[in-house]
Amino acid sequence: MEIIVLIKQVPEIGEAKIDPKTGTLNRKGISLTINPIDLNAIELALQIKEEQGGKIRAITMGPESAEKALREALALGCDEAFLLTGQEFAASDTYATAYALAQLVTFLKPWEVIITGEKAIDGDTGQVGPAVASFLNIPILTYAIQCQLVNRSLFLIERTIESGVQRITLPPPFLITVTKGMNAPRFPTLRGKIFARQQEIQKFNAQSLGISVDSIGLSGSPTRVVKVENFKIERKGKILKDMDPVLMADQLVQFLVERGACK
Ligand SMILES: Cc1cc2nc3c(=O)[nH]c(=O)nc-3n(C[C@H](O)[C@H](O)[C@H](O)COP(=O)(O)OP(=O)(O)OC[C@H]3O[C@@H](n4cnc5c(N)ncnc54)[C@H](O)[C@@H]3O)c2cc1C
Repeated sequence: MEIIVLIKQVPEIGEAKIDPKTGTLNRKGISLTINPIDLNAIELALQIKEEQGGKIRAITMGPESAEKALREALALGCDEAFLLTGQEFAASDTYATAYALAQLVTFLKPWEVIITGEKAIDGDTGQVGPAVASFLNIPILTYAIQCQLVNRSLFLIERTIESGVQRITLPPPFLITVTKGMNAPRFPTLRGKIFARQQEIQKFNAQSLGISVDSIGLSGSPTRVVKVENFKIERKGKILKDMDPVLMADQLVQFLVERGACK
């Protein structure tokens, strides 16, 4: 089974900071890692490969430093890794990102199953998987909680929907977006880490894929971010100290009564 997994490099949880002046994500000096749900996507790919054999190719679009995420994917068991990178991709929104990824996926044909995370913890739109499927004109199954092989040419997929769980059988090719609870991602082995260090990361840019620069970057992105606001929540409290405890308690009760917090 030929499987492609799309992974995104994201800031470690809690390290992403918004620049208060520009309203953009400040990526300097923060540690980056594979988007956590993409580890579930890799785990599903590994389980399918263990059952059926085949090859897993990991892809990311990002800066040169995103190579680290691809090496993590190789250490976990992916066979090959591909980086889509170049200044021309900067400022790409989800539409342009999905378009560019779809061009690389098309270049890497043949494949049968494409797996992505349900959403990235930084951008958090959940749009890239469905948009890639749309550009490739293949079926998409979002929010998958189970994915089993019925036989070599048929999968049984369970996905969450508003009213419960939907069960669908379908043959490849398709794109599936997975949820966090679907499986428990494994840890890399020492052998995997050595393999990851030795393996070549294959790099592509817009020119090598024949992508027009008008389809990517700012010019290929229909989204316009009009304003980004950083909400600062301030609690108007009252600090009481160095006072007689009874007086302190009285003042505290009065403070709460004035604000309607107690009678
Ligand atoms: C106007 C605009 C300008 C932007 N400019 C930049 C910029 O200059 N630099 C920048 O880094 N980001 C930029 N972004 C953000 C970038 O478009 C998104 O991070 C990206 O499209 C993914 O969207 P998301 O994080 O919501 O992913 P989601 O759709 O939530 O991700 C779902 C899944 O899709 C896959 N996926 C998502 N992104 C990638 C990827 N890059 N490679 C491989 N697989 C992926 C993963 O499997 C992921 O789990 C910009 C966004 C906008 C709106």
